[in-house]
Amino acid sequence: MSDFFDKLKKGLDEGLTKVKVKSKHLVDSTKIKGEISNLNQRKSALLLTLGTEFYDMYKSGTFVIDKFKDKFNELENIEKQIELKEKELEELDKAAEEIIGKQSPKLKKCSCGAELPIDAKFCTSCGSKLD
Ligand SMILES: [Zn+2]
Repeated sequence: MSDFFDKLKKGLDEGLTKVKVKSKHLVDSTKIKGEISNLNQRKSALLLTLGTEFYDMYKSGTFVIDKFKDKFNELENIEKQIELKEKELEELDKAAEEIIGKQSPKLKKCSCGAELPIDAKFCTSCGSKLD
């Protein structure tokens, strides 16, 4: 009898952890996605300014490329930040998947209907050989 309750409690604990991991992952990844979107907006705004200034130079007939150096640097900086954030997001997804995946081991179903671990060789319910 106590074995049954232990199993139930264990299952509940695992379920709760999974929900916690899922919701934390959702909060974290939403935050990073927001940051990436902000960076992309800054990048677009900067590119627009650059394009406008470049066109103004074309109209006035004087090209001074040095004038853009700061903006090019800023642009590079933003792109690097976006890259880092995307990596962070990827790692976050992987970490969450690992935890959630570990807590829900894959099962296979025997022809008798019993659910068994994916690496089970024989059915513990009916004794059939499993592939
Ligand atoms: Zn079976």
